[in-house]
Amino acid sequence: MASGRTKRLTLAAATAMAGLVLAVLAGAPIAAAALAGAAGAAAAALLSWRDRSPIEAAPPAPETAPAAAEAIAALPEPVLMIRDRKVLVANPAARTLLGAHIEGVDVRLAIRHPAAAEHLTGTADQPARIELEGLGGEERRWEMETALLSGGTRLVRLIDRGQAIAAERMRTDFVANASHELRTPLATLLGFLETLQDEAAAEDKALRTRFLGVMFDEAKRMHRLVDDLISLSRIEGERFSAPREPVALLALGHEVQRSCGPIAEEKGTEILIENLLESEPVVPGDRTQLHQLLQNLVVNAIKYGRPGTPVTIRFNESGPGMLRLSVVDQGEGIAPEHLPRLTERFYRVEPSRSRAMGGTGLGLAIVKHIVGRHRGRLEIMSRRGTGTVVEVYLPRTTEALSSKSH
Ligand code: ADP
Repeated sequence: MASGRTKRLTLAAATAMAGLVLAVLAGAPIAAAALAGAAGAAAAALLSWRDRSPIEAAPPAPETAPAAAEAIAALPEPVLMIRDRKVLVANPAARTLLGAHIEGVDVRLAIRHPAAAEHLTGTADQPARIELEGLGGEERRWEMETALLSGGTRLVRLIDRGQAIAAERMRTDFVANASHELRTPLATLLGFLETLQDEAAAEDKALRTRFLGVMFDEAKRMHRLVDDLISLSRIEGERFSAPREPVALLALGHEVQRSCGPIAEEKGTEILIENLLESEPVVPGDRTQLHQLLQNLVVNAIKYGRPGTPVTIRFNESGPGMLRLSVVDQGEGIAPEHLPRLTERFYRVEPSRSRAMGGTGLGLAIVKHIVGRHRGRLEIMSRRGTGTVVEVYLPRTTEALSSKSH
C-alpha cells in the first residue's frame, strides 16, 4: 500500500502534469505550459502543507513518466520528453514522424537535424523556439519548442508550420495577382491620357471619341475589380456568422432574370426558371449575398454559353432539409483538369477571353465563399461540347428560422 507521503507526491505530480497538459492543449507555449504545471504542483504542495506534512521536492522521473506518457499521447502534435540525451517518452504523433522505436534512442538520432542538436543536448534552461526544415519530408517546416522541466527532463514540442506557410504564400500571391490585374487597365488609361494631352490628338474628334471609349471601358474594368475585391473581403470577414434571414429564392431568381436581361438578349439567351419543389424554396441566408451568388452564376452561364441556347435556374429537393439550386448552360463546357481550380481567385481557363468579356476572375471565388458562409456545398460539373451545371446545396431551415417564421 502506498504511504500517505507517496500519495501526496503522486497527487503533486499528477496535478502538475494536468496543469501542463491543459495549458499545452489550450495552445499555450511550452514555457507557459510548464509554468501552469508548476502552479499545479505548488497547489498540491500547499495542500500537503495544510495537512501539516513535510513539503518535499517534486518526485523523480520514474513516478512521473507513466502519467506524462499518457498526457502527451493525447496531444495531436509530436511531443517528446527527453533526459540524458535519450528519448524518455514519445507520443504517437512523434513516433509517426520520427520512427516507431525512438523511445530509449539518442535524441540526435531521433531528431536528425543539425539545428536541433544543440537545443536538445545543451544545458540551457531557457525555453527555446527554432525553425526546422525538411523533417519528415523535404518540403515540411516545423517549429521546435523546448522547455526544461524538473529532474533535467526536457519537453520537446514540434509544431507543423506547413499550413501557416501555405496560407502566407496564398496571401502574397493574391496581393501580387490583384496588383497585376489593376495595373494593366491603369497603364492603358495613363497611355491614352498622355496621348490626349497632345493638342493635335485632342483636336481629332474621331480619335478622341475612340480613346475616351477605351478609357471608359478600362475604368469600368478597374471599378468591377475593386468591387469584387471588396465583396470578397467582406464575405470572408463574415464567414463565422451564419446568416439567418429567410430568403425566398424564387423571387430572387426572377430578380436576377430581370437584371441579366440585357446581356442575355445580346447573346440571344433565354433565362428559364424551374421550381421542382412542392413549396416555395426558402433558405436562411443573406439576401444580398445570395443575389450576388445567383447573378455571378447566371452571368457566367450566359457569357460561356452558346449563343441562342437557354440558361436554366432550377430549384430541387436534395435529401432531408437540403435544397439544390442549379444553373445549367449549354456552352462548350470546361475540360476536367480545370474543374478543381475554378474557384481559386483569378483562375481562368482562358485569361484573355475572360478579360475580353469583362470578367474579373473572382466570380466563382465569391460564389464559393458565399456558399461556405451559408454552410452549403458547391459542385461544378461540365462536359465538353454539352455544357456546364453549377450546383449549390443549401440547408433549407434552421431552428432559428422556423422559430422566427412561426
Ligand atoms: P471570370 O470573371 O473569368 O468569369 P469566374 O471566377 O467567374 O471568373 O470563372 C472562372 C473561370 O471559370 C472563367 O474564366 C471560365 O474560364 C470558367 N467558367 C466559369 N463558368 C463557366 C461556364 N458556365 N462555362 C464555361 N466556363 C466557365
